[in-house]
Amino acid sequence: MKTLLVDMDGVLADVYAQLLKIEYEEKGIKHKIESLYGKMESEAFEDGYAYVHRPRFFQTAPLIPGCVQGLRYLNDKYNLLIVSSATEFPNSPTEKLKWMHKHFPFINWKQIVLCGRKDVIKGDIMLDDHPKNLNYFEGRKIIFTQPHNIYIQNPSYERANNWEEVMNIL
Ligand SMILES: [Mg+2]
Repeated sequence: MKTLLVDMDGVLADVYAQLLKIEYEEKGIKHKIESLYGKMESEAFEDGYAYVHRPRFFQTAPLIPGCVQGLRYLNDKYNLLIVSSATEFPNSPTEKLKWMHKHFPFINWKQIVLCGRKDVIKGDIMLDDHPKNLNYFEGRKIIFTQPHNIYIQNPSYERANNWEEVMNIL
């Protein structure tokens, strides 16, 4: 069975939805999603770094549509690991664990890898939204479309625009 590494933020957790919600509630700013294309999260949201440090930011993140059904499918087919850079944000490891247990009770704690960097994690396939993670991975690379990566064309990646496409290619 192949080992599949699946990212959390931007693949399972809808970080953009969370950032857009805070930005609207606190500043009254309603970004058009197209205006965020091609910008890193830190460029797109001026106070984004502060937002992600807030308690409950990760714990209350909405799900990316289709990801629960998608993970259920992948969990039967692969040696599935959820790999997330979490230690940069002190609240996030606990919050991310709670979030995973709440939404994905079929994923056990041994399958969840919370780390500071992903280049030490081994696997056959990586599904991630960030080139910084995909680029040093040696196996098959699948980029999950998010506004920041929408213009990236890299022949070493396969692209999945949504969870339906993930299930079609994996
Ligand atoms: Mg991510």
